[in-house]
Amino acid sequence: MNISTRHRARDRASDMEPGSQPVTLFDHPEFRDHEQVVFGHDAGSGLRTIIAIHDTRLGPAAGGCRMWSYASDAAALTDALRLSRGMTYKNALAGLDLGGGKAVIIADANRDKTPELLEAFGTQVERLAGRYRTAEDVGISSQDMEIVARRTSHALGTKQTGLGDPSPYTALGVFEGIRAAVRHRFETDDLGGLTVSVQGLGNVGFGVARMLHAAGAKLIVSDINATAVSRAVEAFGANATEPDGAHAVKADIFCPCALGAGLNKTTIPQLRAQIVAGAANNQLATDTDGEALRRAGILYAPDYAINAGGIISIALAGPEDGDALVREKTIAIGDTLTRIFQRAEEEGRPTQVIADRLAEERLSAAG
Ligand code: NAD
Repeated sequence: MNISTRHRARDRASDMEPGSQPVTLFDHPEFRDHEQVVFGHDAGSGLRTIIAIHDTRLGPAAGGCRMWSYASDAAALTDALRLSRGMTYKNALAGLDLGGGKAVIIADANRDKTPELLEAFGTQVERLAGRYRTAEDVGISSQDMEIVARRTSHALGTKQTGLGDPSPYTALGVFEGIRAAVRHRFETDDLGGLTVSVQGLGNVGFGVARMLHAAGAKLIVSDINATAVSRAVEAFGANATEPDGAHAVKADIFCPCALGAGLNKTTIPQLRAQIVAGAANNQLATDTDGEALRRAGILYAPDYAINAGGIISIALAGPEDGDALVREKTIAIGDTLTRIFQRAEEEGRPTQVIADRLAEERLSAAG
């Protein structure tokens, strides 16, 4: 892989295969002042990983590890940089003394995941000596984290370090965020009779669907995994729809719980819901999409504010702690969102701009 600035890439252009494009780093549009980016490789296990550390002003960088079969190394780098910066803001807004970082492993979780590969990733994390603390994310389960933890003491969310799987807390925070959005938009605490389109029925999405169902909401569910859809249809009496059209169905709330960048110039005009509130990271494809949602009169719960329950559970739980403090802080995500919604309305600005501002105020105070 060629990792270089444009200058070096140009100098070395003759080394490249005809037609190949250099992968830039320091002038990458998502670089945005990252403190450190590590490219890790292990020949024996086939590990290829990128660990991005964005900001450590509030404390060691913390953020999950995603395993995904990226179309290219460039796509993996873009994802790592975007997610890492997102963690800086998420940890700051959640009031945690942690910086922002993220890891991606370039591999197919169904085909390539082996104990050797996970251990090799643990070795890469250990080499950073605590500057980055890892945890699970898409493609990586809490059981996988136990294997990573054989090689590093900086794996979070394991049985040794906390409450285990963070997904139930993420789901709780998303549920509380949906309730706050419903209160703000529809002036009611009652979810009964409201329809929610849940896109992605993995660790988090399925948990959110379960709580929404218990609260009386009607569900429309979608996933690229047909088994997950059948489970939700059976468990919650949900209606199924195609994943690609989940944002466009007739519903009060769209709850994206799959992958990022789902809100863009194509999908936003197709939205029929009045609220977008879900777990997926980096939901807005570009910064202007938040303004497009505001102009369309759609209340958007900023992704990193609403999905902070998992990192709260990881950061605050000690082996001897129960989950009461974590639950309390996670439920408070609803209050944070209410503040964001109110200030956004008062100032006539997109909600994610207000969330960023609250996070930046805390970072500046620390810096
Ligand atoms: P997961 O891997 O358990 O579930 C993701 C689900 O989305 C899978 O069932 C997958 O089949 C489905 N999916 C993938 N592409 C899809 C598509 N195009 N359309 C519909 N479904 C699709 O992941 P998760 O832990 O549930 O996380 C879901 C999202 O929430 C991710 O964006 C993740 O980064 C974010 N998130 C998770 C946590 C956590 O605690 N797990 C915390 C914060 C944010």
